[in-house]
Amino acid sequence: MNESRLNTRLAAELDEIAAAGLARRRRVLESPCGRIVTVDGKKVLNFASNDYLGLADNRDIAQAMADGALRWGAGSGAAHLVSGHLTPHEALEQALAAFTGFERTLTFSTGYLANLAVTPTFAGRGDAVFADKLNHASLIDAMQLAKANGADVQRYPHGDLAALERLLAQSTAQNKLIVTDSVFSMDGDLAPLPLLYQLAKRYDAWLVIDDAHAFGVLGPHGQGSLAHFGLPTAQRILLMGTLGKAAGVGGAFVAGSQLAIDYLLNKGRSYIFTTAAPPAIACALQKSLGIIRHGDALRATLFARIAQLREGLAGLPWQLLPSATAIQPLIVGDNEAALALSRALWEKGLWTPAIRPPTVPKGTARLRISVSAAHSEADIATLINALKEFA
Ligand SMILES: *Cc1c(COP(=O)(O)O)cnc(C)c1O
Repeated sequence: MNESRLNTRLAAELDEIAAAGLARRRRVLESPCGRIVTVDGKKVLNFASNDYLGLADNRDIAQAMADGALRWGAGSGAAHLVSGHLTPHEALEQALAAFTGFERTLTFSTGYLANLAVTPTFAGRGDAVFADKLNHASLIDAMQLAKANGADVQRYPHGDLAALERLLAQSTAQNKLIVTDSVFSMDGDLAPLPLLYQLAKRYDAWLVIDDAHAFGVLGPHGQGSLAHFGLPTAQRILLMGTLGKAAGVGGAFVAGSQLAIDYLLNKGRSYIFTTAAPPAIACALQKSLGIIRHGDALRATLFARIAQLREGLAGLPWQLLPSATAIQPLIVGDNEAALALSRALWEKGLWTPAIRPPTVPKGTARLRISVSAAHSEADIATLINALKEFA
């Protein structure tokens, strides 16, 4: 294909995307991520971020990052396995192991990279992967890599344990991996982890859990979904937690047994072939981890705001999904209607993003309301009243 034909094709495809009302664009924030953000000179209440504890613009964390940069420099200089693994990285991994209760952790620059490392490292030829249909895109991409390595990959209907058990029972794979989000990112519901863990034991499978939306939020001290359910940090469990959501900074970790993490360090391609995150990020995360560990008051505020929002939105014509987490999806259905509602709220100074297919199934376009401990009672009341007005 020559250059002009390629350009013609790209332009045509972008036109199609725009015609379907699915064109993507970014808004530029002229302020830090927080309860209120400035966009095009306009101040809006922010229900769009994953900053569940309001730590993204925490002054102590920002100071720790600045101090870390002055002490350790701006960059790590290389991949972890070459020369990029500095004292703050090592200390953070140990702190995360102590915090989660696992023997060991490995840190990554993003959750996307962490997920890309895990599934294809633990599942290749002769192995099988069983994944929930609504898993995050990064887990789906990781599954495709495992498939390219020769693994058998199967997706079971969302939360359908009977279907999963049938697949497990039929499988003759040497090594089985059950892979699931703990909190589903577009629905906010929880995976039935205790039952998944029982299935993992019964069929001698690994259980890989993506705790992106639970780390810092659920469980005692914000330890995450395993602690929330009182599940053990068992050898067969691998837990991925992200550090750019509730933790307010960026990056991710995988926690597991000494053996599993050592294996991941030796084999995980998206761990090996990428530059280590700047050490100042690790310094900031140590500060954030301290705030999370002692953050019961923040979590109590977050859950009070969630309860207030759910109570206030009950009885509106849109379905509020049964979510007990900070992700509160209001199903509008039609793409244009979801966009129109999101725009009307924007005009009133409320940022509640519309999420459309292909991110969510067709016909389930929604407002994805993200609640934060940074929100006041009055902020939540403002959103409830605005939605009532448009109902
Ligand atoms: C955000 C998210 C990720 C990716 O984490 P990043 O650090 O943003 O790359 C992975 N899984 C889930 C469920 C997420 O919501």
